[in-house]
Amino acid sequence: MSENKKLLVVIDPGHTGNTYNAGAVKGYYESKAVYDLSLYEKTALEKRGIDVILTRERNQDPGLYERGQMAVKKGNGYANVLFESNHTDAFNGKVCGVTVVRSAHLPGSEKLAEKMIDAIVKVMKPSTGITYNRGVVTKTQSNGADWYGVIRGAVSGAASQGQAKNGPVRYDYIVEHGFHDNPKECLFLSKQENLKAIAEAKAAAIAEYFGIGNKSQPANQSGQSSQNNRNNNSHQTNQNTSTDSMTLNKKTAYLVRVSVDDLNIRQAPTIHSKAVGFTGKGVFTITEEATGIVNAAGEKSQWGKLKSGQGWICLDYAEKVA
Ligand SMILES: [Zn+2]
Repeated sequence: MSENKKLLVVIDPGHTGNTYNAGAVKGYYESKAVYDLSLYEKTALEKRGIDVILTRERNQDPGLYERGQMAVKKGNGYANVLFESNHTDAFNGKVCGVTVVRSAHLPGSEKLAEKMIDAIVKVMKPSTGITYNRGVVTKTQSNGADWYGVIRGAVSGAASQGQAKNGPVRYDYIVEHGFHDNPKECLFLSKQENLKAIAEAKAAAIAEYFGIGNKSQPANQSGQSSQNNRNNNSHQTNQNTSTDSMTLNKKTAYLVRVSVDDLNIRQAPTIHSKAVGFTGKGVFTITEEATGIVNAAGEKSQWGKLKSGQGWICLDYAEKVA
């Protein structure tokens, strides 16, 4: 197979136009920043011999499901298809960090998502001082299909892994590159050279993951030498980022006691995942552990998967039974 049939990347710049979703810094708009970022990313990937399609022109506004479907329609003949919708996030002006939402039905897609987050954090953190890995999450509707239309579109509405397998897309993400209502992250994102640096880092991470191009010296090909030097300098100080933030699911088996009535069971190990009920008081078997977000500030702690298969509980509210 030729190198350029190995991978198709379909990049969806979120929203439309140049003035949608103002940020904390005057003149910043999410729609403009993510479009510019997507163009830089397309260039950086194409330079590595990877085929790239954007879902829209700057002022076009296709429907969300339709954007995802473009990856399905264009993806036949490729060994791998990666769909990503590029965004910057907003919450309360204080929260920060990088999140990837992935389709719940593509089981092999978590590792690359973590790799992409780490690449973005490594570029942003030296300047912002605060950017960190908020984790890879999934969110689904009650029928099991993915919550977000753009993600749902790229797997044609699949509600199971079996259904998702029928389509060409193996990696299906929304990438939130920090928070535009956070002044520090917005200031960083409001500079074109920083968007370029993020794009370059993401492209390098994607190429490396798929074993495309020259892995040993991707930075030397870019022509962004001052930018790359800065990124390279930042690697040493940020080496702990990836291990700090790694979400490793660990199989286990032990009992915990829950002493409150209102402990939520969630579909995934993060408070951003849908709550599907309460445990009630009692003793429960935990079969798997994972690290995930436990509060609105984005702090992480341990979650445990219930043996019943109903979902995950935050272990901060459960006591291990000896
Ligand atoms: Zn957005």
